[in-house]
Amino acid sequence: MDLFQKCTNYTAAREALRLGYYPYFQPISESADTEVVIRGRRMIMVGSNNYLGLTHHPKVIEAAREAIVRYGSGCTGSRFLNGTLDLHEVLEERLAKFMKKEAALVFSTGYQTNLGTIAGLVGRGDFVISDKLDHASIVDGCHLAFGEWLRFKHNDLEDLRKTLEKIDEEGGRLIVVDGVFSMEGDIAPLPDIVKLAREFECRVMVDDAHSIGVLGKRGSGTAEHFGLEDSIDLVMGTFSKSFASIGGFIAGPEPVMHYLKHNSRPLIFSASMPPASVATVLAALDIIESEPERRERLWANARRMTKEFRALGFDTGVTETPIVPVIIGSNEMTFKFWKVLFEEGVFANPVVSPAVPENASRLRTSYMATHTESQLDFVLEKFRKVGREFGIIS
Ligand code: PMP
Repeated sequence: MDLFQKCTNYTAAREALRLGYYPYFQPISESADTEVVIRGRRMIMVGSNNYLGLTHHPKVIEAAREAIVRYGSGCTGSRFLNGTLDLHEVLEERLAKFMKKEAALVFSTGYQTNLGTIAGLVGRGDFVISDKLDHASIVDGCHLAFGEWLRFKHNDLEDLRKTLEKIDEEGGRLIVVDGVFSMEGDIAPLPDIVKLAREFECRVMVDDAHSIGVLGKRGSGTAEHFGLEDSIDLVMGTFSKSFASIGGFIAGPEPVMHYLKHNSRPLIFSASMPPASVATVLAALDIIESEPERRERLWANARRMTKEFRALGFDTGVTETPIVPVIIGSNEMTFKFWKVLFEEGVFANPVVSPAVPENASRLRTSYMATHTESQLDFVLEKFRKVGREFGIIS
């Protein structure tokens, strides 16, 4: 059989395109964080991870401009060889301080950070234990690791205990969870996870992609939210959300960072974060540290939207954060809902099974500090209108 046969046979996406229900790869031609233009139409964006609205902050843009002029457009090599700038090291020192860890290590994406940390640490004879709803990059890191991989039911401490009891061999153990789960918007029960980790002699790694800039008084994430900064061994973050750029980092004990620097293949064999991106992350970190009012505005917007969606009769699941899923039902209904909403000028992301359980397909919405009251009114009004049309709310 020809290797490419499966590609010719793959028709689902083309069929959706033909019917006009294809929601992916929408080309944005202009952006002003909360508003974007797609095919000439201006839309309100409630589908991004730009929680603090920093992608268009003048200090962030200026930092990128200056870095390009000083260092050029790219590093043309990996951190290991020719691709380390003094800026990467400054960023690592700043992040270690911000996260209250001994050291930090910067990767080119968040995805690579999870891949490189998990596969770098969990070797033959070790164990990695992950939540079933952990992000795909954690799943792929576990696949790549030579150690054994076990999974427990989402946020289910009884199941985590049972899973840990199954391990009857010596070997290092790493529990990996998302701090905030990206499709549900709920928070991992870190205090109880830490207790189990101590009982079963595990290290704990938290993916704070959706928590940094969002949770905690200083905005440093889930560990700070629970007052557990000393008890979480490794914190992973991305720069593609609150930090308004691209890249990722892991923070933890210095010997672990040193080891990963010399043993993590996604770090060693892939080119480093470009200068402009590093500079924008440093500028964003300055703003996260100096403008806590942005976090307050983000939370005011998020709380308002959850409350009002629920008041309209929508099911927003178990969210506790600025990720607010609006559960629609079947995949078909979700795509249809997405299309009408899109035509009405609201950009939200459809998330369908098998990524979420059957009949719990949803439009994932997420909020920014920079959304205005009138933009949020517009979004609520459109959801109300389409929700009634589709008989999802009365
Ligand atoms: N972890 C989580 C929880 C995420 O949501 C994402 C991105 N959606 C990543 C890791 C990967 O980050 P990046 O986009 O920086 O590769």
